[in-house]
This record gives sequence, structure tokens and C-alpha cells, in this order.
Amino acid sequence: MKLNKYRKKSPWILHYNAGGCNGCDIEILACLGPKYDIERFGMINSGNPKQADIMLVTGPVTKRSRERLVDIYSQMPEPKVVVACGSCTCTGGVFRGMYNCEGGVDQYIPVDVYVPGCGCRPEQIIAGVVEALAKLEQKTKDIEKSIRLDRSPQINNGQMDRREIAVEIAPGKVFG
Ligand code: SF4
Repeated sequence: MKLNKYRKKSPWILHYNAGGCNGCDIEILACLGPKYDIERFGMINSGNPKQADIMLVTGPVTKRSRERLVDIYSQMPEPKVVVACGSCTCTGGVFRGMYNCEGGVDQYIPVDVYVPGCGCRPEQIIAGVVEALAKLEQKTKDIEKSIRLDRSPQINNGQMDRREIAVEIAPGKVFG
């Protein structure tokens, strides 16, 4: 239980590009740089899904990336949250309708926070991650409650039930 208490203070992030143009990836890297310094919230960009709490996805799902996306997501331990960074990650965006594009990532994995924009600004991404932290805390409580009541967490299609509707970060919403 102590581990869950500290998870909120130092969540580990996994960044995955499902097939975007790299524009939003550069914005995520800007968050990690000294100007926005996302590490001041205790976050570390982890390359290992088995140690990650928050998945930052960029780009639409392509035919070549969909299996890897689901595979990486399923390797992350519960509780976990997904932040879709960029318009093409949310809906397919400018790639929608292309022969190799499958659309937004929520067709394959559950998304908790949508951050629109092409590309999305670092302030928006940080606001999305802060929103994700609240969801991570709620999911942690749900799991702890299930353990206290001696019953399994609600599982639906192999994924933990999301009790709240996913939120969308408005273009004007910034943090800090
Ligand atoms: S939302 Fe725009 S900038 Fe971001 S990855 Fe997609 S096409 Fe590139």
C-alpha cells in the first residue's frame, strides 16, 4: 500500500509514437527539458512499460504500429493511465482516411485524457499529465477498495473498468 501512496508523487512515464509526424514528440521532449522541467513533479521518462504508470502516446494508430501499441499497453501494470497527445492521436487528425491510418488510439487502447492540438503545446501536455495524475490516484483507490472488500477490480475486455469519462484538455488550458 505504501507504494501506491508514493506513486502519485513520482509517476513514471512511457512515451510511444504510434505513427505521427514527430511534432508532438518534440513538444514532449520540451516538457522534459529545463524550460518546462516536468521532472519537478517527480516524473521520469521510463523506457520500460513494466515500470510505467502513465503512457504518453503521440500519432495516429497505423497498421504497422497497432499490435505494438496494444502489446506495450498490456505490459504496463495496473493502475495505469493513457494520455493521447495531439489531434492525430485523438482522432486520426490530418492522417485520417489515409490507407495506412487506423484513426485515433482509443480504437485500440482506453484513453483517459485527450490533449488536442497539432502539435499540442508543452503547457497543455503538462496540464494533461496533471489531470492523468488525478485519474491514477482514483484508479489506485479503486484497486485498494477492491482489495479491502476482497473482490477483484472490475475487468472489462481484459482492461480495468474506467469509472469516469475521459477528459479533454482545452487548447487554452495550461498548467503552471
Ligand atoms: S498532432 Fe500534428 S504535430 Fe502532433 S504528431 Fe499529429 S500531425 Fe504531428
